[in-house]
Amino acid sequence: MPITVFATLIDRLVCAVMLLGSPLSPLAASMLSGQFRFMAHPLQTIRQSWRHTLAMARAEVISRAIVSRFHPDQEVITGQCTHCGKCCLDKQCVFLVMSAEGKSSCSVHGGWLWTRLRCADYPVSGHDIALYACPSFTASSSRRPIIPIRRSHS
Ligand code: SF4
Ligand code: SF4
Repeated sequence: MPITVFATLIDRLVCAVMLLGSPLSPLAASMLSGQFRFMAHPLQTIRQSWRHTLAMARAEVISRAIVSRFHPDQEVITGQCTHCGKCCLDKQCVFLVMSAEGKSSCSVHGGWLWTRLRCADYPVSGHDIALYACPSFTASSSRRPIIPIRRSHS
């Protein structure tokens, strides 16, 4: 089975399980993040978990993570994050916090969970940048231009 087909199947399976398990999302989000606020607002968290999962499915987060293990990107990424929040599942991540000024921050940043998520490495490629229309990073090929060798004639 080609890796892309396998990755897509796993992606759909994970998203389906997340949707079916959404009633447990307040408990899961609280346990994963150590934040009680998800348990304090269960209906809000369940609705946000639907948006989170649908955004994951649209962006094929799981599928891309699997494929990139077999085909690592070879691009040089430059830029500095301006905290627009787009790469956080198009602002739908359940752990995303937006300030009154419209700046994004991650409520699990640097923690055990975050270090295991693909978003911790964003962006790793031009495709990543295009996927969420990141306004702050650019990608270029890591291949150096080939400089012709000048041979000296004695
Ligand atoms: S999309 Fe780009 S600028 Fe926006 S939060 Fe993500 S990395 Fe930062
Ligand atoms: S960086 Fe944080 S808020 Fe953004 S997608 Fe990852 S976990 Fe969610």
